[in-house]
Amino acid sequence: MGGASASHRGEGGNGLASPDLERGIVPHLEDAFGRRFRYLRLSVTDACGFRCAYCLPDGYRPSADAPSPLSVAEVRRLVGAFAALGVEKVRLTGGEPTARGDLLELVAAVAATPGIRAVALTTNGQGLARLARPLRQAGLTAVNVSVDSLDERRFEQVTGRPLLPRVLAGVDAALAEGFAAVKVNAVLLRGLEEPELDRFLEWTRRSPLSVRFIELMRTGCNRNFHEANHRPVDWLEGLLAARGFRPVPRGPADGPAVEYRHPEHAGRVGIIAPTSAHFCEGCNRLRVSSRGALRLCLFGDAEVPLRPLLGSDELALSLRARLAELVGEKPRAHRLAEGRSGLAWNLAGIGG
Ligand code: SAM
Ligand code: SF4
Repeated sequence: MGGASASHRGEGGNGLASPDLERGIVPHLEDAFGRRFRYLRLSVTDACGFRCAYCLPDGYRPSADAPSPLSVAEVRRLVGAFAALGVEKVRLTGGEPTARGDLLELVAAVAATPGIRAVALTTNGQGLARLARPLRQAGLTAVNVSVDSLDERRFEQVTGRPLLPRVLAGVDAALAEGFAAVKVNAVLLRGLEEPELDRFLEWTRRSPLSVRFIELMRTGCNRNFHEANHRPVDWLEGLLAARGFRPVPRGPADGPAVEYRHPEHAGRVGIIAPTSAHFCEGCNRLRVSSRGALRLCLFGDAEVPLRPLLGSDELALSLRARLAELVGEKPRAHRLAEGRSGLAWNLAGIGG
């Protein structure tokens, strides 16, 4: 098994033949463990103006000889190939995607790709108050905003920027635009105590937000920070249960977040715990770096450059065939428990 297979059995081959596509039969990407991939996370830049203590504690340092990020035309070809293989959702991430001056063009190109139904953005929220409306108009359907603290002082300590009010204005702007989903990401750190946690929970009472707490992941650059600040998710699970939140039953197509609901709250709370058992089993995503390298696992040891196949529309079939072949090689699970975070020096290089 593995690679791409036609969604109609009996088609044979690797599902890439153009007659399949012409007849509206979309092949799907599947790995050797039966996991299907309809979701691509695409980093569009490594640059970021924040200095999150777990990600870019010394700020973004561009290297003079680094290749430029993928152009709009390259992104269009890349997403076209994934969509022809059944990918339906693309998340643009970074670095900080709003650092790109052509972000609206990128969103429009992805949204216009046949087969793509959802275009999401993960952002630190810095530019969202200004960009929420044009992003929506360009075809963006969902936004995740990182808000690690609701306390101005702690927010500045964690992110290196005194911008909590601006980020919260960005979340409000996104809610006002009526995106299909607005989610808040908060990395679960020591220092987040019960009163602040309750403010996050209270936020979901009145707003149709999903607040998702992400377990701090150890990467190449944050080993000491991780040691000092990692907080196990069972602390949070216990508190949610005590506050009347109940887990939402998981479906087979659900991603790695476990969601919780409270009968009196408009929104939800989620927990994303990369070291938990089900995290890899439920993996439904593929990642491509801002320079066009496919990363089969966030914490894997290898990435494969796709850029040589992104320079011309004529390479479309070769690109699809290469993707199908590579996906068949996706590893079963990461090896974080053995202290191995692979190529992940930080997540700004691949988008989390
Ligand atoms: N700059 C954007 C942002 O912060 O939302 C997008 C890129 S950032 C790498 C994507 C997500 O990864 C953010 O929610 C961030 O908090 C999370 N992240 C980064 N490093 C992490 C780590 N070591 N452990 C857990 N989450 C991490
Ligand atoms: Fe920038 Fe996002 Fe990394 Fe924070 S988590 S430093 S906002 S890329």
